[in-house]
Amino acid sequence: MNEYNRLSNKYNYSPAIVSRLIEYFGEKRAENIIKELKTPSRVFAVRVNSLMISTDQVLEELEQSSIKATPHPTIEDAILLEVEGPFLVKGIGKKVIADKFACESVMQGSDLYSSGVIKLEKIKVSDPVVIEDKNGLIVAEGIAKMNSKSIMQRIKGVAVQTTNSIYKIPDLKNSHLYSRGMIYLQSLPAIIASKVLEPQPNEFVIDMCAAPGGKTTHIAQIMNNTGKILALDRSKKRLQKLRRNVKRLGIKNVISIRLDSRLLSKKYPCLEADRIIVDPPCTAIGVRPKLYDNSTDKEIISTSAYQRQFLKVAAKLLKPSGTIVYSTCTLTAEENESNIKYCLEELGLRLKDLSKTPGSPGLSSYLSDAKKTRRFHPDLHGTPAIFIASLTKD
Ligand code: SAM
Repeated sequence: MNEYNRLSNKYNYSPAIVSRLIEYFGEKRAENIIKELKTPSRVFAVRVNSLMISTDQVLEELEQSSIKATPHPTIEDAILLEVEGPFLVKGIGKKVIADKFACESVMQGSDLYSSGVIKLEKIKVSDPVVIEDKNGLIVAEGIAKMNSKSIMQRIKGVAVQTTNSIYKIPDLKNSHLYSRGMIYLQSLPAIIASKVLEPQPNEFVIDMCAAPGGKTTHIAQIMNNTGKILALDRSKKRLQKLRRNVKRLGIKNVISIRLDSRLLSKKYPCLEADRIIVDPPCTAIGVRPKLYDNSTDKEIISTSAYQRQFLKVAAKLLKPSGTIVYSTCTLTAEENESNIKYCLEELGLRLKDLSKTPGSPGLSSYLSDAKKTRRFHPDLHGTPAIFIASLTKD
């Protein structure tokens, strides 16, 4: 059995991913990266909504709730929280098998909702249960809050209250800080992506793939609610989420429109933006925790081609000397460095130098100036795998 197949079978990550990781980083590091991807980020970040509250005030409120948090040493609106674990989960109780998405949340301490259950033994309310993924990995133990019949009838609600999970992250989504719009839960590299766009007060910014609004709302915050941000997304449901986030965070300078943003320059040829953020759909291989990933070569190649369509439109709508930030939460060179090479060679854009920004350089075998781009590596930075590049035009 070759090394691709060994790692692929051992970790349930597709040969397309494993072969690329080995090519980029060698066998040993490839294995470490996959191990990391199967677990939550070690660095769990929260963005402070500086329009409403200071970082010190958020830190104080977290301390009052006994949540351990520290300010980021250089990024003033980022707070870092501790991810506890791994803990031993004994696996005593009746078996509940949950889907991948549910297991990835439950392994971090969330409760299991009935919609995430695939199969289960006969259980009654208050029975101790063990939550497993379809491959038999135990992610948590808990107490049944519904009986098996109600769960399989898909009665909405919490099916199992998690009492012991492999990892634990603070449940900030149910906090006052969150509901009052004082914080946004966002990975550290995602916070950095909006920072490197360097939006200025009163500018016109386009976010081509905006929902659920992590970067849009951050950009609005950096611009101190001045200027205009055109936030576009094709998905109605995700755009509704963006609008809820915009409202929750007290953002006033966002116009959100449901649109296939690849058509933007055709529909509105006169638009000219100071800055554009392109955070397109990607194969999301860098998102963690991910218990398994079946991405194929075909998906990687077609996603890369799709992403180029946004970049092409962004290059048309950018003012001379303006800035485009491109970011993905994946680690294939096709979707990252090769797409930037395309921007330089086919779209006449130039790379801005991010070498002083946190993170590591991109892959130089795919882009000669890769040192100007940033990669965040799960094994080195404790974050999801994220790529960021900043581009300009003359
Ligand atoms: N930037 C967002 C944030 O920080 O919260 C995350 C964006 S997510 C990676 C990619 C988004 O692109 C999805 O919300 C998806 O609906 C949207 N999308 C996919 N195809 C699109 C298209 N043709 N036009 C506009 N949006 C699109």
